Order: sequence, then structure tokens, then C-alpha cells
Amino acid sequence: MKIKPHWQILLSLVLATLMGLLFRGMGKEPGIATDFVNGVIMTCEVVGKLFLNLLKMIIVPLVVSSVIAGITSLHGVKGFGRLLGKTTGFYAVTSLLAICLGLVLVNVIQPGLSDGVPNETVRAAFDNHEATDEEKAKVENAKSEGDSQKSFFAQLSGFFLRMVPTNVASAAAVNGQMLGLIFFSILFAVAMTRLPLRQVSPLRDFFVSLNDVMIVLTQAIMALAPIGIYALIVPVVYKTGGELYLALGKYFFTVLLALGLHLFVVMPLVIKILAGVNPLDHFRAMRTALLTAFSTASSSATLPVTMRCIQDNAGVSKSTASFTLPLGATVNMDGTALYECVAVIFVAQVMGVDMPLVAQFMVVISALLTSVGVAGIPSASLVAIMIILTSSNIPGAETAVIALLAVDRLLDMSRTAVNVFGDSCCALVIAKSEGEKVLQG
Ligand code: ASP
Repeated sequence: MKIKPHWQILLSLVLATLMGLLFRGMGKEPGIATDFVNGVIMTCEVVGKLFLNLLKMIIVPLVVSSVIAGITSLHGVKGFGRLLGKTTGFYAVTSLLAICLGLVLVNVIQPGLSDGVPNETVRAAFDNHEATDEEKAKVENAKSEGDSQKSFFAQLSGFFLRMVPTNVASAAAVNGQMLGLIFFSILFAVAMTRLPLRQVSPLRDFFVSLNDVMIVLTQAIMALAPIGIYALIVPVVYKTGGELYLALGKYFFTVLLALGLHLFVVMPLVIKILAGVNPLDHFRAMRTALLTAFSTASSSATLPVTMRCIQDNAGVSKSTASFTLPLGATVNMDGTALYECVAVIFVAQVMGVDMPLVAQFMVVISALLTSVGVAGIPSASLVAIMIILTSSNIPGAETAVIALLAVDRLLDMSRTAVNVFGDSCCALVIAKSEGEKVLQG
């Protein structure tokens, strides 16, 4: 009997969690058992990284070939303009909904306050946390990016400058930043539609074939997902833990509640109302992609899987999927935007900074703008949080971001699943509005 892919992934998630817990229970006293555990963890880290590398390796050819094959089959540029308008509109509105949800919950639950005053336990946990070298390096990096994008103008212009790169090959080489590559592929495809068919058909056939090859590669890599995901999760569970988690419990609860409401209430309502589909069917269609997003914490690495699920299981056409999903994996991050908003207001509460309505409004706009620029890779939104904290003049940004980074993994996994689900909802709604028969048997 063949076990379905999502059950295989779920099973590997459960087994990996159990094994991670077992290893933690064995303690870290020097000895043969610890050597064995360390050996297994190191092997898992390499295997997990190999799996992630495989997924990332196919992103550039997949995005280029699917965007070009998709647009050249769209019968002219007119349809393309309409698609672009609808897609960006959907992404902006749903991200705003997510941010507002986070804003309401963080103000109601007030995870950074205790009896109306800044929570001393959280503050002490921030201050006492000993940062690892890796955390320090990441935060240093985030700080320098934060300094260069302090103003709204800098954030906005940064987006357009990334979109129009000087060198498309080097843009493609930047980890998780596909905006320049997508822009170039769109221009290239639109230029192709301007030439007579007989002149460009060899080129079109080339990209269509390339895309077909990439699909076969994606399926082959997806078959390895249970092993890759097992290897990714064991070290996460093994290394996770410590007092910080306890101190930040209320904050965790706020973020997870907001993400859960967006994933299980807001977006299902959106697709029910706009596409008239049963949200459960859509969850079923996307389950492998959601589990992959959750396990890898990278919406870019999940993109090949998202593309397969939406076309093979939800029935969205190649042209709609090829346009909405790569763009979504790059610019649309509902979970990340929501998380940024909650995290910034939480830090402001802990630091005793009063955030009047205008200041909170600025956080909302910044979260929207910066989430567009966040790369689809693990912990990327810490950079955006640093930018907003710095531009809102909230003190102690560095200490806070280091502490948030230390407990980021579970929240990162959860918000990445929300990010990917948001992209897939957009593809579904746009496909439906273009008259496609989605989710029908
Ligand atoms: N890991 C997230 C993603 O890939 C980005 C982030 O919020 O850090 O979608």
C-alpha cells in the first residue's frame, strides 16, 4: 500500500519530533551517548541542508521558464495587465487584513505588559539572553540593513531598485530575492508577444519544454521530502528550548493565535466569498505545500511544491499559477507582515514606549512595505523588524531582536505556512475570476 505524500511528511514530522525530544531527554553530559547524539544531529543538519539546496537549486530555471511559458500563452498583453492589477490588489488587501488582525490582538492581549506596566520578566529575559555568534552576526547584518532603510522613502525606493536590477544574473543569485528575475522574465515574455508567432515559436517551445523538465525534477525532489523534512526537524526540536520560551509564552500565544485566525478563518472566508470554493477542499489540495512550508520555513524553497499542488490538485491553469505564485512567494507575506506588527508593538510594550494611534498606523504601513521586501528564507523578517524598530525610535532594538531570533523557529515555520497559503488563495481566486474551473473533483 502506498502512503500518500502528505501523510508521509506528517509521519516524518511526528517521528522527527519524538526523536528530537528523546535526544533532549538523554541530556548533554559528555559521554558516548552524547557523542552519538551529536553525530546524528550533525548528519541530520547536512541531509536537511541538502534537501533545501535541492529545492532552491531548481527555483531560478523554474521561475524563468514558468513565468515566460505562462505569459506567452496568455494571448497578448491585455490579459496580462488585468492579471497584474488583480493579483497586486489581492496581495495588498490580504496583507493589510493580516496586519490589522495582529494589531488588534497585540493591543488586546498586551503580551509585553503585566498589569499595564512593562513586563519585567520579559525584559530580564531579553537582557540575560547570551547570544550565540551566529545570532550576533545575523543581527549585525540586520542592523546595517535597518540603518540604510530607515525612512519610508528608502523602503519604497529600495523595493523598486531591487525590482529593476542592473544585472539579471546577479539578481537571480541573491538568496530568496527573485523580484528582479521575475521582472526581467515578465519583460522578456511581453517582448516575445510583440513579435510574430513564427519568429518566436522556437523560443516559446524551448521555455515550455524547460518548464516541463523542471516539473519532473520538482516531483523527484518532492519524493525525497519525508527524508529531508525528518532531517530538518530533528535538530530544531533538539536545540529548541530554554527559559526564553517560558518568558515569552504570552507573546508566542498572541502570534500563533493571530496566525491561526488568519489561516483558518480570514483566508477561508476570503476564498469562500471570492471564489465560491469549499475552503476544506483547498486545504486538502495544498496540504503537501503547507507541510513543506512549515517544515522548511522558506516560502521560496517551497515554491516548486506550491506550483505543483495548485495546478495538479486545485486545477489552476499553468499561466495563472506561473504568474501569481512566484510573485507571491517574493512579495506577498501575510504571516510575515502580521508577525512584524505583533513583534514591534510587543517590543515597544516591553521597553515601555507608548505607541499612540499614529505611531501604530506607521507600524502598519511599515509592516506592509517591508514584508514585500522580506526574502522567502528562514528568519528573514528579523531584518524588517529591525528596520521598523529603528525607524520608530524604539530603544533596545538589538537586544530584543537577538532574543526574538533565539526563539524564532516555530513562529517562522508557522508564518511561512500562512505566507504560502495566502499565495495559493490568490492563485485560486484569480483563476476563478478568469473563468477557470478550479477545485472541481
Ligand atoms: N521564513 C519566511 C518565509 O520564507 C519569511 C520570514 O518571515 O522570515 O516566508
